[in-house]
Amino acid sequence: MCYAIPGLVKGFDGKHAIVDYFGEEKKALSELLDLKAGDYVYAQGGFVITRVSAEEAGKTLETWKDLFFELKEIDQKASRLSPWGAARYDHVRGLMERALSGGKLTQAEILGLLNIADPREQEFLLSAANHIRQEHHSNSCCVHGIIEISNMCAEQCHYCGISAWNTKIPRYRLSKEEILSAVQGAVDGHGFKALVLQSGEDAGRSVDELADIIRAIKKRFGVLIFVSFGEVGEEGLEKLYAAGARGVLLRFETSNAELFKKLHPGSTLERRLAEIRKAHELGFLIVTGALVGLPGQTQQDVARDIELAGELNVEMLSLGPFLPHPATPLANIPAPDMADLIQTLAVARFALPAQVKILVTTGLETLSPDARRAGLMAGANSVMLNVTPVDKRPLYDIYPKRAHQDDPLAEQITATIALLESIGRAPTDLSVGAG
Ligand code: SF4
Repeated sequence: MCYAIPGLVKGFDGKHAIVDYFGEEKKALSELLDLKAGDYVYAQGGFVITRVSAEEAGKTLETWKDLFFELKEIDQKASRLSPWGAARYDHVRGLMERALSGGKLTQAEILGLLNIADPREQEFLLSAANHIRQEHHSNSCCVHGIIEISNMCAEQCHYCGISAWNTKIPRYRLSKEEILSAVQGAVDGHGFKALVLQSGEDAGRSVDELADIIRAIKKRFGVLIFVSFGEVGEEGLEKLYAAGARGVLLRFETSNAELFKKLHPGSTLERRLAEIRKAHELGFLIVTGALVGLPGQTQQDVARDIELAGELNVEMLSLGPFLPHPATPLANIPAPDMADLIQTLAVARFALPAQVKILVTTGLETLSPDARRAGLMAGANSVMLNVTPVDKRPLYDIYPKRAHQDDPLAEQITATIALLESIGRAPTDLSVGAG
């Protein structure tokens, strides 16, 4: 199964190629200098990432032809708004209509939705979020891969199991060859079109070395690269962009500056936000978000977290639960309930601009085996699969018992595709973000 559908280039609008997918046209920024009308391409995140031969495209399109429309129909049915809910919960319906017409929610309105406690109203909220997702993104669901290239980190984030607080865990750093081999397995072996390279703030590997690895990947593989190496500074971001990275995954973790300072010794929210803003200015796609359930965090903070993500031009929202790790200062703080996280995702779908994708994080999946389905049915439309070599995954111990930690990649893919098909989603990136 391929993780994108090839599209046919119909023409150009400035630097954007106009790409046709079964009669639907999307725009994607092309960096392929000799791209021309009539070429087949794969696009991800609004970028044309690679060209494919007409023969290969033909084969894939043949597989997708009927399935594409069948899945859309299943999704449309599953995301219809319940008439009883719409009639009964006028306030939620009103905010949903505002979200559908591109209007903004105030922070008080976001907070109001977060505070809904009546189970039937909550149920309506989740279904309304799913309805908004379907209207804005149709049935597309991004399936990205993540490779954890190093668990070295010099920082002391209070919630993180691979922080410097953890003196017991063996540390690793994949070599350039090991990273290229993992990329090859994901791209050539399994058809991934977008990969996140992630590590702690690893002082032992310079940005120049990271840029060199990205250049080597881009030379050999048609894949969209996101980087998640913590804060690398303006110059670092420039080097990574020049090497070919096009996305940055950097969460601000909390919009509460005081809380941020407490949890991140030696760092400030201001600096983190400046880095995210700079990344956007340079042209990176932004994946950002927060942790929910942090000690000292209020619902007001969470409402502001959602609002702040929108202000940061988020392309994909990553909201994860705080999960206690025994080797950190927050070892005894309980994790939040899955239901609270799902409600937060749903509210984010109401509050964020149409094009924003919402990720079901591995952290959320760690709270419950049902979380992936629940998140996707409450406004989310993105998942990440762990592409890290299996023997290294337990060492990327950011929190205990990570979901899918021991699942071989092929098994993760089979399970993901089965779930997506059962709810009518296509593992594609053809949503408004690609337009
Ligand atoms: S959250 Fe990131 S920067 Fe902080 S300790 Fe963990 S790996 Fe390091």
